[in-house]
Amino acid sequence: MGLSKKADSLWIKWVHTYIIKGQNMWHMVIPADCSWTIRKIFQLRESCQPLILYKVGNDNSTFAWLDNWHPLGPLYKKYGTRIRADIGQSLSAKVFSLIHNGGWKWPRGRNRIMREVKDFTPEGFLPDVSMEDSVIWIPSKNGIFSMKSAWNTIRRVLPAQEWCKVVWFKGHVPRWAFILWMAMQIRLNTKDRLSLWAIVSDASCVLCDCDLVESHNHLFFDCCYSSAVSTEVLRRNHVDRAPMRCDDEKEWFNLHSKGDSMRKCVLKLSLAAAIYCIWRERNARIFQHKRVDRGSLAATVCNPIRDALLSWRLLDSSQGNKDICREWSIL
Ligand SMILES: [Zn+2]
Repeated sequence: MGLSKKADSLWIKWVHTYIIKGQNMWHMVIPADCSWTIRKIFQLRESCQPLILYKVGNDNSTFAWLDNWHPLGPLYKKYGTRIRADIGQSLSAKVFSLIHNGGWKWPRGRNRIMREVKDFTPEGFLPDVSMEDSVIWIPSKNGIFSMKSAWNTIRRVLPAQEWCKVVWFKGHVPRWAFILWMAMQIRLNTKDRLSLWAIVSDASCVLCDCDLVESHNHLFFDCCYSSAVSTEVLRRNHVDRAPMRCDDEKEWFNLHSKGDSMRKCVLKLSLAAAIYCIWRERNARIFQHKRVDRGSLAATVCNPIRDALLSWRLLDSSQGNKDICREWSIL
């Protein structure tokens, strides 16, 4: 976007002076000796050009056949090499070369292309000579580029998972939420996945030493080590049950942690903390050869939850919230 509107930046000026050299950036051949970064940027032209609209003003910089300024889009791209014979002028001609006495003067084409271009040019669609040429970022409402609008344009939008609110809520701890998010999607590099790629030969769980395969379900829910940790976290949240299988836990948390009350948020925070602590312990055993027994981890897993709660701002000092603060010793 910055390159197309020649934004006032030293790097962009450098690229225009030494790489683009007055050519059309959408149509030029990528120089063989340019850097990896510039090559990658130029390789994105195909997907970016339809998103950038040129508004023709008075500085005669918009390319008539190559830039995306006409309602039909970049005309060379639409009609391909056939247009060359029809226009009777260079492909690097600017829009102003088509203006005569305040109106359009289209090349006299022998085939339907020029007729079609004329037909699709709205009445009164002329350069605005009161302003300079400018570019508009089509995906955003105000025409200004933003990372958010770019991301929303290129990403594949899938329906939101019901359990995303269990992970992302006001008061979540980012590093805990990230590991929980990955675990919920079965995307952490557990040994069962690594063994499929032959990265590890021994896929057994390092937490329980029971020779059971380390899968997401086993590591976080089935393993006797993690069970002890999760049971303690549930108990501190007044949930009197043993941990369930991954899918059942997802369903239970979807149902029981809905809403933004402090009680629900502490419950969600506790789940994230438990998953994070289990994952950290598993990594410490594998990579640092350090281990904490399950009794000790279960006894200390609630400490970081309490620390996180200390940073919360209590917006509502209801009796229920005061009770939670007392339970977690933060009053
Ligand atoms: Zn285990």
